[in-house]
Amino acid sequence: MNRTTVLGSTSRQGWGELTQWPLLGWVLRWRHARTTAQTVLLLLAGLVLYDGFFGPSLAPKNLAGTLPWVHWRGFVVLALLLAGNLFCFACPFMLPRRLAQQLFRPTRSWPRWLPGKWVAVTLLVGFFWAYEAFDLWASPLLTAWVALAYFVAAFVIDGFFRGAAFCKHVCPIGQFNFVGSLLSPTEVRIRDASMCQRCRTKDCIRGRFDANQRLVQRGCELGLYQPAKIGNLDCTFCLDCLHACPYGNVGIRWRLPLKTEMDPETLRSGIGHLHTRPDWATLVLVLVALGFLNAFGMVSPVYRFLEWLSQTLHISSEPALLAIVFVGALAALALAIGLASQLTRVLAPVPGPRWVATRFVYTLAPLGFGMWSAHYLFHFFTGALTLLPLAQQFVLDLTGQAILGQPAWHLASLLPIATTTDLVLIVLALGYFGSLVWTMQLATRYRLGLLAILPWIGLQTGLFVVGIWLLGQPMEMRGTLLG
Ligand code: SF4
Ligand code: SF4
Repeated sequence: MNRTTVLGSTSRQGWGELTQWPLLGWVLRWRHARTTAQTVLLLLAGLVLYDGFFGPSLAPKNLAGTLPWVHWRGFVVLALLLAGNLFCFACPFMLPRRLAQQLFRPTRSWPRWLPGKWVAVTLLVGFFWAYEAFDLWASPLLTAWVALAYFVAAFVIDGFFRGAAFCKHVCPIGQFNFVGSLLSPTEVRIRDASMCQRCRTKDCIRGRFDANQRLVQRGCELGLYQPAKIGNLDCTFCLDCLHACPYGNVGIRWRLPLKTEMDPETLRSGIGHLHTRPDWATLVLVLVALGFLNAFGMVSPVYRFLEWLSQTLHISSEPALLAIVFVGALAALALAIGLASQLTRVLAPVPGPRWVATRFVYTLAPLGFGMWSAHYLFHFFTGALTLLPLAQQFVLDLTGQAILGQPAWHLASLLPIATTTDLVLIVLALGYFGSLVWTMQLATRYRLGLLAILPWIGLQTGLFVVGIWLLGQPMEMRGTLLG
């Protein structure tokens, strides 16, 4: 079995596989593609940090007040919905991570008492609470500090622990991308299962070594063994497996979103069974709740609600009030999931509410991601064109000369507001549809009648209605001078 023979025999995959496309395929197979993309994003991050620390304090006129909160978030969800986990592929935090790994050659394993996703879940809740409590989106300086802290954390953690500890256990952005990539139309996967059965070296996970046993290509640091890898969860799209496989048996394949992801009892390499992973279930619950909370934070009723809460509880501190709102929303969703599980238990002969919850909680993921996407795309479509005046302002501040012209602050929206509203509602509806499909699929899988899944359809429909209401409210035009 040699690489040439295999590549020849698999070339029939054609357009179904991105790595076979004429130009894109070459770029994706190029060993330095990822480092190049990461370097570009690192340079952009450098500009954001510089402007955040030294630029104007008014957020819409500062790269740190706009690029991360309007453009980058929009690109991330668009990429996840239309292509795949491109941000992790091009992640700039990987470069300090790699540097730390080369400098310190860490040998320690990630502590067993901090398993799975618990650290990342805690950081996610903490980050989004801080985002609202300290108006991170309105403060370029705070944004720059957060970005700097992120670089330092990636450097320290991967300088200390081996493998991809930061990506797998810590990075909140990564976990967001993993859950969002359930809906992506592509997947890194093997081409020919029989080839993996005949393969003796398993380089896709072990890595490839030269004659002197020096590592020349990493295998999967996330512990995903290609023949047993299911779906996109925990996959950073780093393509190390693609470069490591000596037979060219790994590619990026098109797929129907969710298609390979819906069975919580399938054994997934590197993850195990989803229904036995409370950390993954909690991650999904938290991301769904935060998706709605984060959108709630930008509509006008939130101020009336906080005022009412403040008067009722006699608490004037906004961070404290927001902490109460966050805990309340998370508890409310957990309670709703518990209630739906209990009702399903009453309506069908299933082992118990825990059995139901640990399987059906995942059906909320598409709707939750639909909410995130609708929210982020709203900001993106209403503020995308600010990129030009921001660049003009940056150059003007830096050089004192309008080399790119005077900032054209009248530029903001990419689409008319009515079109944007329609589009984001469609995105939310697609998420709702994904949740319904997943629920029906589980009903078929466990031979449950329609009555037994009605509580879940009811919960999803309720959240969908809340999402429509949120998107119908006047929203803050964050990141633009219209806000
Ligand atoms: S994907 Fe992994 S197991 Fe399969 S042929 Fe390649 S190296 Fe071997
Ligand atoms: S090496 Fe692992 S994380 Fe990277 S693309 Fe392959 S499966 Fe995904």
